[in-house]
Amino acid sequence: MRIGVPLETSPSERRVALVPETVARLVKGGHHVVVQRGAGAAAGFPDAQYEAAGARLGDAAEALGAELVLKVDRPSPGEVASLAEGGILVAFLAPASSAEVLGALAARKVTALAMELVPRISRAQSMDALSSQANLAGYKAVVIGAEAMNRIVPMMTTAAGTLAPARCFVIGAGVAGLQAIATARRLGAVVSAFDVRPVVKEQVQSLGASFVEVEVAAEGAGGYAKELAADQQRRVAEAIAKHLLAQDLVITTAQIPGRPAPRLLTAEMVRSMKPGAVIVDLAAETGGNCELTKAGEAIDVGGVLVLGPVHVASTVAFHASQTYSRNLQSLLQHLLDKEGRPKLDLQDEITGAMVVTHAGEIRKR
Ligand code: NAD
Repeated sequence: MRIGVPLETSPSERRVALVPETVARLVKGGHHVVVQRGAGAAAGFPDAQYEAAGARLGDAAEALGAELVLKVDRPSPGEVASLAEGGILVAFLAPASSAEVLGALAARKVTALAMELVPRISRAQSMDALSSQANLAGYKAVVIGAEAMNRIVPMMTTAAGTLAPARCFVIGAGVAGLQAIATARRLGAVVSAFDVRPVVKEQVQSLGASFVEVEVAAEGAGGYAKELAADQQRRVAEAIAKHLLAQDLVITTAQIPGRPAPRLLTAEMVRSMKPGAVIVDLAAETGGNCELTKAGEAIDVGGVLVLGPVHVASTVAFHASQTYSRNLQSLLQHLLDKEGRPKLDLQDEITGAMVVTHAGEIRKR
């Protein structure tokens, strides 16, 4: 196969779809890889490393015109126009909000696979890029919060007295939340967490955090959460409001697939917090878990800082690219036959779930 790796064009994107390590494996497997000049630079992978791995350096047209194009972000209309007719594209395509791009991909008869749609089954775990990127975002959220706080995180016994550890509360203990808990613990915080899925309690406790108990159960399909009923929402709000009063750092990661992020922190709750406390809202891109969050901005609410960082995984682009690249490598092992040709079985549990356009048709949004 001729595999193309274009330079990402979205201004805040620093990641690259393939790192040199993966390129070397693909080249060893008999594939030709063309990497657009500078594609890995922002992630810390210079062109020379790609050449050493056996890639050919080319321009955007060559990378986008390959039989199989591997990207991080959804292509722009101009990029779609450069894709080979009948080719294959793999990227985060945000299918639910990309009607126009999907239409353009279908018109070019591109078979497009959305990385968001890797099914959450154990066989596909190594391809699960939502998880690999959320994990890094969970780590980075704590680092961002620690940097913004006016206090240190660990307990410190010094000649000038003992300093109390920071209290960190993580709301939503999925992939990002669990990594945030682990990171805050490593830094020495006293950590607590809450999630609407009761199964998470044990995972939270095994990381050394306490679980904020509220009698709710909102386990939806596929291990995800579903929306809470009104009375449950009220009970959760009461428990969170009480718990927030003592917190120094709050990391929110709550999401419901296909829906705006649940609003969990009201302006009143934020105003009740200790001055100097910091909220890092990782759900900022889907509307925020805090009603004061503004995506990409920092807001000071009477001394409480509400941060809404976006594209967080991209800020640790080296490791984000490395893990995404390994996710793609696993996916290619699944998609390509022994001769390295694509075997696109739309009945397959993984391929079928991911293909959004094929043979001129939009299959799913
Ligand atoms: P997500 O990003 O959709 O949501 C993050 C968390 O927010 C979830 O834990 C969810 O329960 C929680 N949440 C939703 N509404 C909430 C509310 N009102 N209050 C508090 N918390 C709320 O989820 P995710 O991190 O992508 O993963 C969700 C689940 O999928 C986890 O159980 C994870 O272990 C599982 N998973 C399985 C696989 C696999 O089997 N291959 C891969 C990745 C994740």
